[in-house]
Amino acid sequence: MKAKVAFFDFACCEGCQLQVANIGEALLDVLDKIDVVEFREVMSEKSGGDYDVAVIEGSITTKHAIERIKEIRSIAKVLITIGACASIGGVNGMKNNFELPEIKKYVYGEDEKYFDSVPTMAVDQVVKVDYYVHGCPMYVPEFVTVLKHALMGIPYKAPEKSVCTECKLNENECLFDRGLTCMGPVTRAGCNSWCINNGNICYGCRGMLDDPAKTGQIEILKKHDIPLEWVTNKFNMYNKAKDVKENENE
Ligand code: SF4
Ligand code: SF4
Ligand code: SF4
Repeated sequence: MKAKVAFFDFACCEGCQLQVANIGEALLDVLDKIDVVEFREVMSEKSGGDYDVAVIEGSITTKHAIERIKEIRSIAKVLITIGACASIGGVNGMKNNFELPEIKKYVYGEDEKYFDSVPTMAVDQVVKVDYYVHGCPMYVPEFVTVLKHALMGIPYKAPEKSVCTECKLNENECLFDRGLTCMGPVTRAGCNSWCINNGNICYGCRGMLDDPAKTGQIEILKKHDIPLEWVTNKFNMYNKAKDVKENENE
């Protein structure tokens, strides 16, 4: 029997689902083992009912979304989050830099009372998540690995080491030595230092390590005379949602 896999989106740009739609050959290994029963971006059919695997994109930003993700969780055997929005809150978390009434008024003006809105949360701040695929957009090779692990019922965890470890192996010149700031030292590896390889800094889209080397990062900043706020402001771009406490929005 093939596993019933369904994709759902919440607050997001749908860029991670687009990555799935464009995977191509890398998905061939698993295509004969899954039956995609719901995926709004590529098909109009909807199966309803129970799912073996629910793949979630996007963060939770409304009371309606809280109810919907709970409902999906109750009928899915396994739940995977894809991308920064779903896995750590992502760019939607920038809303949490403001008081909710203030940001609602800014966005919706006088009509703000008609709009359902709560501080942004990652999916695991509302329901249990079994597997995470990190990144903005998600890193496709990691998605294929995670899906295979989920289908086999074995655990998967992204490497608990920093982006710097991959950056060093790729022999990039450290951006701090060029007068730039980079979130690599405290960010979870697994993207093969994608951005630095392509001439950009790391913004921390894969989320902070469970146990980041904060002392090392602070020493690097001191050495290069960089204020701590520059780094925390950059880090907030993807990681602000985690400031919301569990059940705070219910
Ligand atoms: S993680 Fe990035 S690419 Fe994926 S849905 Fe969110 S904003 Fe879009
Ligand atoms: S700080 Fe950034 S550029 Fe420097 S080694 Fe780490 S990931 Fe690479
Ligand atoms: S280098 Fe940093 S910002 Fe770029 S994909 Fe990796 S974790 Fe994300």
